[in-house]
Amino acid sequence: MRLTIEETKEMLNFMADKIISQEPMLTEIDSKIGDGDHGIGMKIGFTALKEQLPDVEPKSINDLFKWTGMTILDAMGGASGVIFGTLFISGYTAVEKVDYLDLGILAEMLEKSLEAIKIRGKAKLGDKTMVDSLEPAVRALSEMAGKKSSFRDGTAAAAKAAWQGVELTKKYEAKKGRAQSYGNRSVGLPDPGAVSAAIIMEGIAEFIEKREEVL
Ligand code: ADP
Ligand code: MG
Repeated sequence: MRLTIEETKEMLNFMADKIISQEPMLTEIDSKIGDGDHGIGMKIGFTALKEQLPDVEPKSINDLFKWTGMTILDAMGGASGVIFGTLFISGYTAVEKVDYLDLGILAEMLEKSLEAIKIRGKAKLGDKTMVDSLEPAVRALSEMAGKKSSFRDGTAAAAKAAWQGVELTKKYEAKKGRAQSYGNRSVGLPDPGAVSAAIIMEGIAEFIEKREEVL
């Protein structure tokens, strides 16, 4: 199964709805271990995306993802705007320009984005950041793509791996961003950015699952 550019826009819209609807939960977590602005920031970024999506006519998936990341980055600002913007921007050069999205392309694009996020933010696994859910999700995507799994199975595995990563963040002490000042008081709570990354992966998986049911 593949998505056209138009269907990929629908997928991004679906993902944006999920993030926006989880704003209270993200705010609650970030107010306990951060400065409480993560839910609002994500809501601002993904609302801008949702509002502007109908007007863009990208010529490739690469262009669509880059535009998505730039839109989120511009609207959100701050450190996490750069991080969640990069998630969509840096896959731009991972593959040749394509007018469809499948599991292999998504895996290659997100591998490149993960790499860029890690270079930029210098977070590694266990630092209690979104990398803790994004990295296992991307690994699952690549592994499933390598096995020629279906888009549905591959994205479901990625969402599951992301949530497992979120569970692990509860055990860690924050080492990056504003949450690090909370030291071991952050133990027991998940990292808000890791939760957001898992919601994004889950949004992709749910959208693909629904599409396959229709086809
Ligand atoms: P801020 O920390 O600027 O208040 P947010 O509250 O919106 O930004 O986002 C916080 C989230 O950003 C954290 O939960 C974490 O997942 C992510 N984050 C912070 N610093 C980094 C980093 N260096 N690398 C990757 N992710 C990071
Ligand atoms: Mg914050």
